[in-house]
Amino acid sequence: DVDLIGPQDAYFSMQVSPVLDDEKNFRSVVAIFHDITELKKFDRLRIEFVANVSHELKTPLTSIKGFVETLQSGALKDPENAKRFLDIINKQTGRLENLVNDLLTLSSLESRELAMDFRGEDIGKIVQSVLGLNKKQIERLGHTIDVTVPLNLPHVRVDRQRIEQVILNLLDNAVKFTPPGGVIAVKAAADGDFIRLDVRDNGIGIASEHIPRLFERFYRVDKARSRELGGTGLGLAIVKHIILAHNGKISVTSKFGEGPIFPSFFPSHQQQR
Ligand code: ADP
Repeated sequence: DVDLIGPQDAYFSMQVSPVLDDEKNFRSVVAIFHDITELKKFDRLRIEFVANVSHELKTPLTSIKGFVETLQSGALKDPENAKRFLDIINKQTGRLENLVNDLLTLSSLESRELAMDFRGEDIGKIVQSVLGLNKKQIERLGHTIDVTVPLNLPHVRVDRQRIEQVILNLLDNAVKFTPPGGVIAVKAAADGDFIRLDVRDNGIGIASEHIPRLFERFYRVDKARSRELGGTGLGLAIVKHIILAHNGKISVTSKFGEGPIFPSFFPSHQQQR
């Protein structure tokens, strides 16, 4: 008789062999248990990920196919509608492109094939160069950007391109999830052996029940809204991966009725030398 008592959702693989005596009479059994809970968990995550990716690819593809077929079956002769359909096809193609780019970034980060090029960098300069990239979008939406970086801040030890991506993703979210005319603030400060960088906005905010899962791949508070804004649901997963590869950390706080603050911590250059 074997009683299995264990925590819920735990998985074991069990190998049972008979123990025989010299006359080959059955004496007892030896059972070996392997705890394969972690393996099962990874397996489940992998299956979920593939299902999510397939679903995310399918939605724009269905739309592209539908509008191409509509054009083929006559809409091409109706210039006004034809233009509208082409615009939709263009937008959906852009979505596919963003998704594939984000997936490639994630997989290169996960496979660790891409070595990081750590150097001492001035975080203020990095922030300014990223702001240059989405300046137009920020201006178009009438947001105010408030940057505070002390002059004598120690350098951070980072892979510049990767950190630009982190700041770009955080700023892009702040811009997207803040109604026009909002205030977005980027603030850097020394914090022990780290440089802390806060990105905050005064937009729609994030309800506390979503916080624990926010950095998971494809997790979005409002799927339809995220898609409408051109999001892939992978931005924060990429941010987290890059920061962990730097031995840094990132979190998020969001009080009810206020926009969120994303504080990230990067090792300062001195500490690593
Ligand atoms: P997305 O492509 O949807 O922006 P992310 O991984 O970057 O994907 O973010 C995941 C989700 O976290 C978003 O869909 C949104 O619901 C929420 N989120 C991220 N940043 C903010 C923010 N600054 N304000 C409100 N919600 C945010």
